[in-house]
Amino acid sequence: MDRPRTLDPRRERAFQNRVESLPLQWNTERFLREGATRKVPERTFSIIKPDAVADGLAGAILAELDKAGFRIVSIRRESITKHEAEGFYAVHSSKPFFSGLTDFMSSGPLFLMVLEKDNAIADLRKLMGATNPANAEEGTIRKKFARSLGENAIHGSDAPETAAFEIAYWFAGYELI
Ligand code: UDP
Ligand code: MG
Repeated sequence: MDRPRTLDPRRERAFQNRVESLPLQWNTERFLREGATRKVPERTFSIIKPDAVADGLAGAILAELDKAGFRIVSIRRESITKHEAEGFYAVHSSKPFFSGLTDFMSSGPLFLMVLEKDNAIADLRKLMGATNPANAEEGTIRKKFARSLGENAIHGSDAPETAAFEIAYWFAGYELI
């Protein structure tokens, strides 16, 4: 943003305040100063899975995430291909449930999300509950909303390394400012 040519210090101050309050990506000066180095809370990757979207539960799950203090850094509704699901779940490629899992994940629209908060990775896993909703604690998202072991409403990264891989698999850097 160009600086107005003014010698009035009050107007100069007002202009500065306005610039400082812009979101980081619209404020070139601040972005160059802080964008690459600022400390951000931990980030994790999450999916509202096709069962929950089909059951009309996406809004309720977003509300749970909001209530638990997660900031949505990026979100995208998408129908992914079987091939994309296989790449995402490559760590499970030798498991007996791999084919069913990737069929299910490519069966309908889902929400891909990057979430941010202190301790985001562990806190999301706790809020999700156990993989099998039958074993999930009361009050967890899977206990409340999942259909079954396979169709279990939500995904969350399980460690910093997987969070980094999973975020980069679905989102570009410019979508994560
Ligand atoms: N899954 C399944 N059958 C199983 C175990 C897992 O269909 O016996 C599916 C389920 O949707 C699960 C996903 O595969 O969420 C990934 O499995 P993982 O063990 O990583 O569970 P998560 O990390 O999602 O709790
Ligand atoms: Mg997992």
